[in-house]
Amino acid sequence: MSQKHQFAKIPSVNLLLQSEEGQLLVSKYSHEVVTGAIRLAIDELRTGDFTKISDEEPLYLQLLDRAEVFLHGKFAPSLKRMINGTGTVIHTNLGRAKLSPYVQDVLTEAAFSFSNLEYDIETGSRGSRYDHLEEILCELTGAEAALVVNNNAAAVMLALSALAKEKEVIVSRGELVEIGGSFRIPEIIELSGCRLREVGTTNKTHPHDYEHGIGEDTAAILKVHASNYKILGFTRETTVAELAEIAACEKLPLIHDMGSGMLIDLAKYGLGHEMTVMDSLAAGADVVTFSGDKVLGGPQAGIIVGKKKYIDLMKKHQLTRALRVDKMTIATLAATLQLYYDEQEAIAKIPTLKMLVPSLDELEQKACELKEMLSGLGEQAVIEVVDTYSQVGGGAYPGEEIASKAVTILPHGVSVNQLADRLRQGSVPVIVKIRDGRCELDVRTIERDEFSVVVEMLMDVLR
Ligand SMILES: *Cc1c(COP(=O)(O)O)cnc(C)c1O
Repeated sequence: MSQKHQFAKIPSVNLLLQSEEGQLLVSKYSHEVVTGAIRLAIDELRTGDFTKISDEEPLYLQLLDRAEVFLHGKFAPSLKRMINGTGTVIHTNLGRAKLSPYVQDVLTEAAFSFSNLEYDIETGSRGSRYDHLEEILCELTGAEAALVVNNNAAAVMLALSALAKEKEVIVSRGELVEIGGSFRIPEIIELSGCRLREVGTTNKTHPHDYEHGIGEDTAAILKVHASNYKILGFTRETTVAELAEIAACEKLPLIHDMGSGMLIDLAKYGLGHEMTVMDSLAAGADVVTFSGDKVLGGPQAGIIVGKKKYIDLMKKHQLTRALRVDKMTIATLAATLQLYYDEQEAIAKIPTLKMLVPSLDELEQKACELKEMLSGLGEQAVIEVVDTYSQVGGGAYPGEEIASKAVTILPHGVSVNQLADRLRQGSVPVIVKIRDGRCELDVRTIERDEFSVVVEMLMDVLR
């Protein structure tokens, strides 16, 4: 069929709209958007971008199918559910912490109802959105006061700006970190209107380095968690307790950016030792900041706890309005924090913690279950259970590898990279690790109720 001939037979937009199949689309979407999609499909046919014309199916149906593909794309949610087979529990690219299913009702209610966000029900007068989280944060951490802002980067900026604007902030040269490419301590200090005063060296900063660095213009000491690197060998870090002593002596606030900021000491569960938020406050930090969506397991937020006189300055600061959190954050953070009243409850119900605590035996058992479910793929791939290493991610436990278990897939007929690509592009993207020439699915970060989806996706790409 010549192209010219083909064009002559293109049905009109109206005809397509009025067909039974067209009406079905209109009932699902709307007249307006279906018309737009049909026009796009027709344009594609005219320009030759859409050429899959078979003689089997009427042209109008092929055009409607094409229009439906457009509509599908247009109305698909932008954030897609994904399966994290990487073993990295806090994966910023994959949305960091999964919220606890136990906060779901609270989230829905906050999102779809009017609420007392800034309303005092008792007196019928205006309330403060910050009151919802302060009490529980103080109770859990033992701090005098608390404030929650948009994220930890904002928390650090606010603390610096409120306590040290136009003055000097002292930081160790070993702690001038860059996190995720856009959070760099020197830049954040500058952006907060403060001047950076570096002390010590990359590998060693002694208490006397801080003492010598303090001058007329010093307004704060900042300690930063080295979130994504570890300095090994000949090192000396000045501890929070040592810094607190110096800060108290000089009447300066000690600000501690803890990054992930833990409320539970996970050393009890086989992980390495990291200071908790309570440890830092007890050691004398005046202001501690940390993220809501790292190991804590809540929504994106920057949590600030510490001395009332400093937090009060932050509450009054102009920036606080610009960095404020919304009702869904307040609702889900409060509900997540409530789970921390009982440590066992928190471990059992908060996904980030739940993924960090299982024993190697439990992980092996889980991996065997997944392997068993994949036994139908024996002809298409070699499937095994192996030892592997997971990471906490999100700046907690830098450099630490936690022993874990994975199901590996060595496909026949396609390369390992091709398999990884196809799994990533499936209807539910599955992200794998490639190690030792095989695709690895680390079962630490895959929940049992996701196994059937993993199996389905693998069947799709291997069969
Ligand atoms: C992750 C991290 C931040 C940034 O926190 P966000 O919540 O992502 O803004 C700041 N400081 C440290 C030490 C971190 O680990």
